[in-house]
Amino acid sequence: MAGEDKDQLAQAMSELVDSVSRLRDLGRRLTAREEKLVLLARQAPKPRPAAAKSAAKAKPQAAADDDRPRGDWTIAAPESLEAVRAEMGDCHRCKLGAGRKNLVFGEGNPHAELMFIGEAPGADEDRLGRPFVGRAGDLLTKMIEAMGKRRDDVYIANILKSRPPENRDPEPDEVAACEPFLLKQIQVIRPKVIVALGRIAVQNLLQTKTPISQLRGQWRLYHDIKVMPTFHPAYLLRNEAGKKPVWDDLQQVMRELGWSLPRKGK
Ligand code: SF4
Repeated sequence: MAGEDKDQLAQAMSELVDSVSRLRDLGRRLTAREEKLVLLARQAPKPRPAAAKSAAKAKPQAAADDDRPRGDWTIAAPESLEAVRAEMGDCHRCKLGAGRKNLVFGEGNPHAELMFIGEAPGADEDRLGRPFVGRAGDLLTKMIEAMGKRRDDVYIANILKSRPPENRDPEPDEVAACEPFLLKQIQVIRPKVIVALGRIAVQNLLQTKTPISQLRGQWRLYHDIKVMPTFHPAYLLRNEAGKKPVWDDLQQVMRELGWSLPRKGK
């Protein structure tokens, strides 16, 4: 094997060990096969410093070290969204399971090019078991229609699948328990673009504390999928001035996906 190939393999092994360590940090027990892979990876030669540096440089503008996405992208994707839903069952993996009326899994095209990810179900979503219904949901539907698509063309989900009491912010242990299922949904759908809606979705997906006002409108990466951070529709209901920047962000998404932009004056 050529030296460069060896370095790339060693770099990949090192990243695998990092990913599994993060998985352990989230409290996930490893399967016997994963344990064996980690053992093999640990025995692999370490990448030479120069190669490690160039491999890091070759990464797209993902993220600084403090905002690497969580979750192990290297584990084989589940077969289908139905399989992910079945695995969740009547989920009580965190304390929110006790207070919800309905688990809000997500809905839309399982082969969507575009996925919208919000924060957590609110009262209407909890009551109906569907994401983004109510006034903020109606506005999201209008935003999708302004892009020339229907809700059924995209996939819509949240970071959390059970409603936090009084719509408070999700707590870290709740996100840690629920996010692995979102990761699996993303692995099944493999969207080309994710639009992250609002502070909670953006900061959790991108693992950053940077304010949404600074992040919006700039492409980021969630693993290898492009992410456009933008404001949440609920924020737009209170802040009319936010609509223009959000529309700018959505037009960037349309260009990225090769969707035709609406003609001026239409
Ligand atoms: S928020 Fe997620 S992990 Fe917590 S109980 Fe609901 S579905 Fe399960």
